Amino acid sequence: MILGGVEAGGTKFVCLLGDDEGRILAERRFPTRGPDETLAEAVAALRDLSAETGPFAALGVGSFGPVDLERGRFLQTPKPGWSGTDLLGPLRAAFDVPVALDTDVTGAALAEGRWGAARGLGTFAYITVGTGIGAGIVAGGRPLRGLPHPEAGHVAVPRVPGDDFPGVCPFHGDCWEGMACGPAMAARWGVPAEELTGADRDRAVDLEAAYIAAGIRALVYVVAPERVLLGGGVAGLPGLVPAVRAHLATALGGYPGLPQHDDPAFVQAAGLGGSAGPLGALVLAASAAG
Ligand code: ZN
Repeated sequence: MILGGVEAGGTKFVCLLGDDEGRILAERRFPTRGPDETLAEAVAALRDLSAETGPFAALGVGSFGPVDLERGRFLQTPKPGWSGTDLLGPLRAAFDVPVALDTDVTGAALAEGRWGAARGLGTFAYITVGTGIGAGIVAGGRPLRGLPHPEAGHVAVPRVPGDDFPGVCPFHGDCWEGMACGPAMAARWGVPAEELTGADRDRAVDLEAAYIAAGIRALVYVVAPERVLLGGGVAGLPGLVPAVRAHLATALGGYPGLPQHDDPAFVQAAGLGGSAGPLGALVLAASAAG
């Protein structure tokens, strides 16, 4: 059975056809522009791809947020022009197949649970730190959703003493994303994080790790994950993951004293890299296909 997928990211869209074993048969990537032209390009891409490989039986969409998962529309998003956009309408109009929608990070979490670094686990979090901070949460084997989905990147984090950076979140200023996403690092240090070198990079990685650990502490106490995976561009900074482990140990303060929290495997790099999002769209498509 051929499945269709769309990873609708804030900076790029990935349209793909694959199967429910995680094999990608064909894909197309293009930059995210205005909603009308981008969604038209997604429809055209899926049509072209299915002309190559055959029609798809179901479509999974993993999207940047926040998005009303029931109505398939964007809520208030900082992405210019996209607030209120009907995401699923153009896709449903073009393709007469079942469609499943969730956030891009939830899709990525599901893919990590199926093929990546969270295989066999029932409750875990996949955190991406890049343009923003997002967390896909799987609880008891199911993606956590409600009204409409978690927005863990916007939890409050305690300020590191002496840090007067105002934060970059347009809604909250110094929330987790506001203090620690990629644009926050670039604003704080004057250059993108990956361009930092030497002592500047060491200081930046340590401060970044402190804030990432602060957000993970909130997830540890609310979600009780068996594992936390870190993905996204910032998470690839050299030395970041070990520094997060060290700061998390301090932030937890020995409470509740579970040895699993001290295991290096508790916080680890995501396993699927940039493929987690596209593969997540296939997992969603498989769920739509039943
Ligand atoms: Zn915020």
